[in-house]
Amino acid sequence: MADTRAERIARLIEPLRVRPGSRVDLGKDFDPRYKADLRKQAGVELLRAGVSLLAEYQERLAAQSTFGVLLCLQALDAGGKDGTIRHVMSGVNPQGVKVSSFKVPSSEELDHDYLWRYARRLPARGDIAIFNRSHYEEVLVVRVHPENLERQRLPEHLRGPEIWDRRYREINNWERYLTDNGFKVVKVFLNLSREEQRVRFMKRIDLPEKNWKFSAADVRERRRWDDYQHAFSEMLSATSTKWAPWYVVPADRKWFARICTAAVLAHTLMDIDPQYPVVGEEAREDLQVARRELEDEAPDGVPADPYAAAHPG
Ligand code: AMP
Ligand code: MG
Repeated sequence: MADTRAERIARLIEPLRVRPGSRVDLGKDFDPRYKADLRKQAGVELLRAGVSLLAEYQERLAAQSTFGVLLCLQALDAGGKDGTIRHVMSGVNPQGVKVSSFKVPSSEELDHDYLWRYARRLPARGDIAIFNRSHYEEVLVVRVHPENLERQRLPEHLRGPEIWDRRYREINNWERYLTDNGFKVVKVFLNLSREEQRVRFMKRIDLPEKNWKFSAADVRERRRWDDYQHAFSEMLSATSTKWAPWYVVPADRKWFARICTAAVLAHTLMDIDPQYPVVGEEAREDLQVARRELEDEAPDGVPADPYAAAHPG
């Protein structure tokens, strides 16, 4: 049974995966409105199933405490990162999940190498970490707005145009290193159309309770749409690897984006297939000693083992 679940999930996300080594042209290769053959109604059911599946696997991941998982979420403004995190993680134990949101770097962060602040937020073994924005901002917003790079104060001779290829390589190597040490890295780009972004911005302007989500910078960034599409295409082409693939998730329909993101994470966890630790012979003998001691303490008229009494067979 677990197999058919795993197969369905694999089939859903396969068309979204960026094949390592392929050249991505975002506008041509990925449709933000794609929704497989799903309807919203069935989709909501599927998301519910996905969320409980994640809860089950996350518990095993935490119990085994051998692997960690890092999910990086990237998107343009209004791409739906916050809502996706809220929905996808709604069923999991908060103790095992750490969400980090990355904003404009602080002066302390700028005093370090560019991966420093991301490295500090990596998952521990047994944990799922979610990066709401990630080290990929370092080849996206920093590339589109070079003044960000100036603030990073790299030595003069290391600031040339080859910096982007170098960063792709450094990021790939870093993710490889993490993978080789038991930390799975998986990356989701929520792919929003220009028109859907306009619609969502309008909603943020129209509804007072959404106003806080909108800033004038958002329309300024929108004017650089083509530059961002280009930066995203280059980044996806260079950094989707066998060990840490990118998934381009169609984001114009929020419900579909959430299902796909849950599916990508579930696929990663199923691939790890974490197991509850099995205790050894000696530990089991200790359990029996403890059992006898606890049984002896049972008050009169109470079963020696209340759990076994309530669960016969
Ligand atoms: P938000 O996610 O809406 O809270 O906005 C966070 C802002 O921080 C976005 O405008 C990002 O472009 C910006 N940001 C995130 N990481 C970096 C970075 N490494 N350098 C410059 N700006 C960044
Ligand atoms: Mg914003």
